[in-house]
Amino acid sequence: MVPYTIIAIVVVIVVVAARILMRPSDWILDRAAMFNPGVVFRIDTDERAIALTIDDAPHPDVTPDLLRVLREAGVKATFFIIGSNAEAYPEIIDSIRAEGHELANHLHTDRMSAGLSDEEFVDELLRTDAIIGSAGSPKWCRPGSGFVTKRLVRLMNRNGYTACLGTAYPIDLYTPVELTVMQFLENVRPGAILVLHDGGASRKDTIEVISTLLPRLKSMGYRLETLTDLSHLGKPVTENAGR
Ligand SMILES: [Zn+2]
Repeated sequence: MVPYTIIAIVVVIVVVAARILMRPSDWILDRAAMFNPGVVFRIDTDERAIALTIDDAPHPDVTPDLLRVLREAGVKATFFIIGSNAEAYPEIIDSIRAEGHELANHLHTDRMSAGLSDEEFVDELLRTDAIIGSAGSPKWCRPGSGFVTKRLVRLMNRNGYTACLGTAYPIDLYTPVELTVMQFLENVRPGAILVLHDGGASRKDTIEVISTLLPRLKSMGYRLETLTDLSHLGKPVTENAGR
């Protein structure tokens, strides 16, 4: 009997974990915010407005098509720029800017930020800051691999940056398009921050995800804003603003 009990417990744990990953509730997001003080997870607003944020930009395999899809839909997004990619493809950065999208900081190299020393982290932050130019206030940073510590938040704040994670992510980057779209639609809510990925050939699904997602979001009455415009609609949900 014992093995069956163990199997049953494991199945329940897996199902619950999958459910939480598919749709983290406000309660879970607010607890996450509580343990990550100073990090923006979503904006507290009743307006049906959300932000589309795109990590790991720019890349010639994906960004040009992404820009086309966004242009056709009349949507402005926030691109989290990897400085070293921007140095390699400055013309793509020019296009992102020319089309009116927002540029944000994803550090100079996409690696686990929590392992960097203070000096290394600030160097990464400021090298990318110099490339994307100071876009005014607030300036957004999403460190590599999505791990943010209090130390990193302090370093970001000291350099004029606000840390931003998000509300809805794909479970992983290789989930089938339709499942990723479904997951975003399950998680969308007023003030949500959606996280998608630019990058090399393996990220090409992002183009299809966005072109499938945009008309559905529109039919649900959502409008898409840049992160900064969304942040003007309400308080950011961080440690102190959590419900
Ligand atoms: Zn990244």
